[in-house]
Amino acid sequence: MKLDHIGIAVKSLKDSVPLFEKIFNAKASSPEHVAEQKVIVQKIRIENMDIEILEGTSPDSPITKFIEKKGEGIHHCSFRVNDIFEKLNYLSAGGIRLINQTPKTGADDMLIAFLHPKSTGNILMELTQEKQG
Ligand code: ZN
Repeated sequence: MKLDHIGIAVKSLKDSVPLFEKIFNAKASSPEHVAEQKVIVQKIRIENMDIEILEGTSPDSPITKFIEKKGEGIHHCSFRVNDIFEKLNYLSAGGIRLINQTPKTGADDMLIAFLHPKSTGNILMELTQEKQG
């Protein structure tokens, strides 16, 4: 397992992306709409991980709801795994609550699944895995 990216919730990509581009001195990817997660994503690649900047696309988007409750800021940490199904089984068997029992499709067509922050020290964690074939 290695850190894949940190997800940052923002109200407006247009307003916030230039700030992160300045901080990391790198250009963000073009916006990608991830319909299943109700977000638009822009990524900044830094050395061996990404900064994932997220804007919600509707009032019931997890990102919009997060900002309403906690304001803008770090939303989740994402870890790359080789076998997301095996890892979810392992965690679930160990009593870790899962938000996604089965993986969903995230940005860059990756398989993703979120763990419940109530059972991970109040940190929203995401697992990601490249789709095979
Ligand atoms: Zn993510």
